[in-house]
Amino acid sequence: MSWGYGADNGPEKWVANFPIADGPRQSPIDIVPGEASFDGDLKPLNLKYDPSTCLDILNNGHSFQVTFADDSDSSTLTDGPISGIYRLKQFHFHWGASDDRGSEHTVEGTKYPAELHLVHWNTKYPSFGEAAGKPDGLAVVGVFLKCGDDNASLQKILDAFDSIKAKGKQTSFCGFDPTTLLPGSLDYWTYLGSLTTPPLLESVTWIVCKEPISVSCEQMAKFRSLLFSAEGEAECCMVDNYRPPQPLKGRCVRASFQ
Ligand SMILES: [Zn+2]
Repeated sequence: MSWGYGADNGPEKWVANFPIADGPRQSPIDIVPGEASFDGDLKPLNLKYDPSTCLDILNNGHSFQVTFADDSDSSTLTDGPISGIYRLKQFHFHWGASDDRGSEHTVEGTKYPAELHLVHWNTKYPSFGEAAGKPDGLAVVGVFLKCGDDNASLQKILDAFDSIKAKGKQTSFCGFDPTTLLPGSLDYWTYLGSLTTPPLLESVTWIVCKEPISVSCEQMAKFRSLLFSAEGEAECCMVDNYRPPQPLKGRCVRASFQ
């Protein structure tokens, strides 16, 4: 059976096929603000995204992702806690079956209804695939979604959902600017962690924004209209596609703000 989020193949079972699931720098984690140390040497995030690099949107059976052309330094993350140039590869979300859960990171135990992940790879390596196996290979910016006002930028993405309802469906998605999904403040926490889906590689510098973005209840309902299942299979709603917090194991969480 392949991995997923069900009782038989969910996060508690991943260690059988991916022993690194019990490793020293797994993600997500519960962020305890009072235990994060302010680091005045942390630079502000420098995110430069070119909407013309946006390619398509895909239901991969675990989430949906928006993919970007990454053959040049057109959409990049620099500064913050990282050095060098990291290119945007894709962004995706994790969410719950109801609004009381869905984020992967939590803040002192508080769960948000969804979490956005913008995935970047270090151009000191030749490709995303090579970078994904290196301790400094990836940098993921996490943004919490909080129930509130309708999010006009997010709506552009949700409007494509009818074309990608089932696993394996993909459609072109052009000209989207991920900058429009970022919160007003780019204050962040940062720590060294991993991919939150198999193969759970310990290659991610996590950058989790303190300020959530808003999403309406109706928009959260739209996320839940996607399917884990492929066309022709028994319909299975794509919900609760998050991994719960993992042990900190002595790692330090730094804050860019006081
Ligand atoms: Zn993710």
